[in-house]
Amino acid sequence: MKRTFDYHPPTICYDKPAMAVVPRDEYESRRIQALAGTRVLQLIVPKRSARTWTMQAGDVCRVSLPEGSQVGDLNLWNLEHPRQERFYSGKTRQIHSTHLKTYDRLWSCVPYLRPMATFVRDSLEDYGIDRDGGSLHDVVGTRCDDYIYKLITGQDRFGSCHSYLTEAVKEHGLGEEDVHDTWNIFMCTGFTRDTQQYFCKPSPARKGDCIEFLAEMNLLVALSACPQGDVSIQVGQKVPDEKCFPLLVEVFRAN
Ligand SMILES: [Zn+2]
Repeated sequence: MKRTFDYHPPTICYDKPAMAVVPRDEYESRRIQALAGTRVLQLIVPKRSARTWTMQAGDVCRVSLPEGSQVGDLNLWNLEHPRQERFYSGKTRQIHSTHLKTYDRLWSCVPYLRPMATFVRDSLEDYGIDRDGGSLHDVVGTRCDDYIYKLITGQDRFGSCHSYLTEAVKEHGLGEEDVHDTWNIFMCTGFTRDTQQYFCKPSPARKGDCIEFLAEMNLLVALSACPQGDVSIQVGQKVPDEKCFPLLVEVFRAN
């Protein structure tokens, strides 16, 4: 006979720590001050590659789509001690949710466990949560890598967010072991209701869309323009070059 269980309604696991609640008005004015200040950095992450940059605490970074729909995989490290403190995707997910919304924060690993950055603007926030439970900017997916590509297709490849990020961090004395689970910006993902499998949808992001985050500490940031483009093609299938686009990065600092 099949075993039966008592029903209990779901309870949110984590009582939100005070540091996870952002004073929105204060952050909006800090954001506006930074944007009205000086643009201290502008760079393009070319399609199918990754780039790094640094930020000072209080800087606002905007990542936008200058040409077309494209997802990005983002890593963060404490600039002063990157080997010890970096972004902790799993705990960020537990504190906030599977998909980050504005005024959610990106938390660092233990023993630090503190905000590294705060998400302050999302031009796609109206997307919300769709009828399949899909939403944007997840902290669920790990990053695409050539090892899983080989498991799926049997073929060797160099060309994944993991390998691009690994290449990009070399100039900072970091290596493959420093690349970690990413914040998947502009990506639309969820879990199927019937089998709880990770799914993706074509990103609804278009040319001109952007996200912005405010640095809570001095940061080293790495961003990959995913070779899956807008992720409208399943991992393992060939993605045509014209499906892939660059990402534009700008950093603003209050005067
Ligand atoms: Zn990728």
